[in-house]
Amino acid sequence: PSITRGVTVDIPSVSWDDIGGLRDLKKKLQQAVEWPIKHSAAFSRLGISPMRGVLLHGPPGCSKTTLAKAAAHAAQASFFSLSGAELYSMYVGEGESLLRNTFLRARLAAPSIIFFDEADVVAAKRSGSSKNSSVVGERFLSTLLTEMDGLEEANGILVLAATNRPHAIDPALMRPGRFDLVLYVPPPDLEARYEILSVHTRNMKIGDDVDLRIIAEDTELFTGAELECLCREAAIVALRENISATTVGNQHFEAAKSLRPALTRDEIES
Ligand code: ATP
Repeated sequence: PSITRGVTVDIPSVSWDDIGGLRDLKKKLQQAVEWPIKHSAAFSRLGISPMRGVLLHGPPGCSKTTLAKAAAHAAQASFFSLSGAELYSMYVGEGESLLRNTFLRARLAAPSIIFFDEADVVAAKRSGSSKNSSVVGERFLSTLLTEMDGLEEANGILVLAATNRPHAIDPALMRPGRFDLVLYVPPPDLEARYEILSVHTRNMKIGDDVDLRIIAEDTELFTGAELECLCREAAIVALRENISATTVGNQHFEAAKSLRPALTRDEIES
């Protein structure tokens, strides 16, 4: 991926199959993101104007970013990724010009998806009171609204935003023609946990004693990110035990599980 001042661009390689669970959600995203790009002629033939924005909300680590990337991959769209927190930390004016520049580049590289992580940081509700309102946030929000309204003539560009705090987002962004679709990305249920474990052990040789269904049952409060971490950690436990290990056994998963939630970078790297 190429990086220009806080924006990364590439066509992601992650596919729908790399995401466990969330079947209905994937279908909705396929229709909202993949179809208008892949079948734009059919959309204009039937007079359907494609959506301009989709807001994904839900707890951290439950695949909002990965879903956005998979949608871009499926549509073979250039994926421009911006982080709300990073934009917020920029000098006054710099964030807005980066945003305008990103929309411009997205037009040139269309079909494109512009992904905003932590959108609430820069698209927070305008409070109206000078005490609480943030000038940076307001200027940024109005730039974003202008750019999104300008998407009318731009085919093949879609804005996807992710947040853990949907109620903090300014309602102006929810008006028709802006974020038309709001999707909740839930934490994984039992079946989804099983599928996530299957995805993340796909390239791993696991022992016959490993039953991913039982692990899925025992990991009720784990997020997708934590399940991914569990699989990686189990392999590291196996290697720590024997550096020539060829399979990851049930005891390694058990040991890795007992490390949660106190997993620290030091433990992973030791
Ligand atoms: P945040 O709000 O912290 O940005 P997020 O909801 O955007 O989190 P991701 O960054 O997409 O979450 O996911 C974090 C990691 O967890 C990814 O590396 C992804 O592989 C893994 N993961 C999460 N959910 C799933 C899932 N359903 N299937 C497979 N992997 C998953």
